[in-house]
Amino acid sequence: MKTIGLIGGMSWESSALSYRLINEEVRDRLGGFHSARAVMTSVDFAEIEALQAADDWDAAGAVLAREAQALERAGAELIMLCTNTMHLVADRIESAVDVPFLHIADVTADAIQAGGQRAVGLLGTRFTMEKAFYRERLEARGITVIVPEEGDRSVVHDIIYGELVHGVVRQESRQAYREVVERLVERGAEGVVLGCTEIELLVGADDVDVAVHPTTRIQARAAVAAALAD
Ligand code: GLU
Repeated sequence: MKTIGLIGGMSWESSALSYRLINEEVRDRLGGFHSARAVMTSVDFAEIEALQAADDWDAAGAVLAREAQALERAGAELIMLCTNTMHLVADRIESAVDVPFLHIADVTADAIQAGGQRAVGLLGTRFTMEKAFYRERLEARGITVIVPEEGDRSVVHDIIYGELVHGVVRQESRQAYREVVERLVERGAEGVVLGCTEIELLVGADDVDVAVHPTTRIQARAAVAAALAD
């Protein structure tokens, strides 16, 4: 089994879920006392959030590249970044290390294609919904990506930063997300990407009528598959 390196802390609420999910996946696949071989680094999210707000992706990329190098030195044989948003600087991270980097949008595209959906709604932070890096990565795989309209984007983004990263889960917010998804379905979405690692703390398959792609879970499964591959 290869050692998985996790770059976490963005936020720790979802990184804790990632850590649990990779261990559950190894347990389910190998049984017995097996658990994941892993090393984890966890940043101070306040530092990253400030760089996001300042639009200083260069500095944020430098921080995360250093974290990836630390993981490699600690024995990581593959690296996963426990946030969708910060894949905006995936190239910086990937080029800073020699071990494989597992891109969350690629494994999400695999899941969408395995599910047979051609058009999906994308929920995430404003950065993920509005900038090209994530949408284009899915579109390059032939997937049509539908992002919420402006008002709905604000709702989705504000609930992530105002509640979910602080561990606050509210029924009203769950209902708001359901309504956003309904509007995406009306616009042609056959599935919905929960493209922020905290969203699956709030909503899941039971909340919506279309296929759901929870990126934290998808990424955890893919990392374990890679760690267990020959
Ligand atoms: N965890 C979130 C994501 O998957 C948002 C927090 C962040 O900006 O990294 O995008």
